[in-house]
Amino acid sequence: MPKRKRKPKNIPTSDVSNEDDIVLRETTPLQLRYYGDPVLRKRAEPVTEIAEAERQLAVQMLETLYATGNGIGLAATQVGVLRRLIIVDIGEEDDEEYEPLVLFNPEILSAEGEIVADEGCLSIPDVTAEVKRPEKIVVEGIDVQSKAVRIEANGLLARVLQHEVDHLNGVLFIDRISGLKRQLLKDELLRIQQAERPT
Ligand SMILES: [Zn+2]
Repeated sequence: MPKRKRKPKNIPTSDVSNEDDIVLRETTPLQLRYYGDPVLRKRAEPVTEIAEAERQLAVQMLETLYATGNGIGLAATQVGVLRRLIIVDIGEEDDEEYEPLVLFNPEILSAEGEIVADEGCLSIPDVTAEVKRPEKIVVEGIDVQSKAVRIEANGLLARVLQHEVDHLNGVLFIDRISGLKRQLLKDELLRIQQAERPT
């Protein structure tokens, strides 16, 4: 999910001295998949083991996110990998600095309230629409150190987590708007679907 303009940031990929941290190789950003690519409609499989390859994928996804310049979340599906992994980095929000989040097998345990806000998607460039979603959620998943984590989220964090979990189920934010509004976006969606991109 993209956000307003933000500064790109560097993430540590090597020379990590803290023994709890994981030493990772330098990587390059992955190729994003765009609206019209059938992979975006598929359901991702649970991750059964978090080994180096999985951690590496998470770092590559973070790099891919930062390379976009305005991304705040990405699901593995969006780089063509059908495994249940999402990464989120909303940076600073409401004067609070959030850490990047890597979540394997995320599950939304509960949701409450309802709020409408503008949403976009890195796989559907330059299209935004108002989407109604629960306001507060509780999400459980496994972090990059294989530890179970539970996150109580509201605001932008709750929204991006729901958006990325949707991707793992083959759901896009435009599925959550009215048919009439989607009709208005028809030309834009067709343009994205037919755009020529390097393979
Ligand atoms: Zn998206």
